[in-house]
Amino acid sequence: MTAKDKYERPVFSLRISITNRCNVKCFYCHHDGIIPQKYEMTDDEIYRVAKVAADIGVGKIRLSGGEPLIRDDIVEIVQKISSIGFKDIALTTNGTLLGKYAHELKQAGLNRVNVSFDTLNPETYRFITRRDYIEKAKEGIIKASAAGLYPVKVNMVVMKGINHHEIWDMFQFCKENGAILQLIELLKTETCPDNDFFDEYHYEMDELENELNEISDDVKTRQFMQDRKKYFLEGGEIEIVKPMDNTEFCKNCTRLRITPDGKIKPCLLRNDNLVDLIEPIRLGYSDEELKKIFLNAIADREPFYKECAETAR
Ligand code: SAM
Repeated sequence: MTAKDKYERPVFSLRISITNRCNVKCFYCHHDGIIPQKYEMTDDEIYRVAKVAADIGVGKIRLSGGEPLIRDDIVEIVQKISSIGFKDIALTTNGTLLGKYAHELKQAGLNRVNVSFDTLNPETYRFITRRDYIEKAKEGIIKASAAGLYPVKVNMVVMKGINHHEIWDMFQFCKENGAILQLIELLKTETCPDNDFFDEYHYEMDELENELNEISDDVKTRQFMQDRKKYFLEGGEIEIVKPMDNTEFCKNCTRLRITPDGKIKPCLLRNDNLVDLIEPIRLGYSDEELKKIFLNAIADREPFYKECAETAR
């Protein structure tokens, strides 16, 4: 039975941030709303968290970070989580180490992957990430498809004057490499390092959506995925990810997050209501006791934008 909060929102999925560390330095990064932590859960602790989540009805896991592939034990982590029997295990990565790991990760039980990749232009890539890893990231996307990870989604944060003119080239690149293009609207959160970039680079996607509506063979809306629009066209797919206050994000939020140091984070946009799991795990709490901590955190879950969620009750 899937656990629900008092707003009748079921919790289907868990996003586990397994590290704060990253090998690129994207200037806009919101760090998944997580404030840097002092230590990281071990692979066994990550397994334990996932196991208890499965017991309360979570069916999908996503590993993220920081950069999850920076951990030397990433294949063991996926193997252990996979042994629990989730229906879906996904990973979000910048792709720079995916060429090295794609095949092993697939063998270990990973189903699908999102690769953050904003540009095909080496200079723009360097400007965004402060690194020269564009060829490694491309190789990661290609190897992920070849390894049979499906779907491979390319996450492109669209920014005015930086890469907005590359959308159709990126679509072509994705089509050629068996990937789906996911266009992400730039977000401003309290965990972005410097919010000044927002006014300068924010790109409004309404016009593009109108164009996509006209030229697509089919359009689907993904309910439980913040009503995201999915456009099918010319042998490829484009998905649009809009900011949470514009897409009834809270009403359809079915996800809990875990911070790298083992705290339940019930809301992407808040850091004042984290619930500690790691201390109880290290003190030897039983699965039943950990389950209760999870269920209490879910029961106390509050939508950030309440007006949206009220309509879901
Ligand atoms: N290192 C991994 C990666 O690069 O995918 C996982 C962490 S990264 C924070 C997760 C996703 O958040 C990436 O797709 C990234 O593009 C997106 N992201 C980060 N900051 C953002 C912002 N200010 N607005 C929109 N998306 C952002």
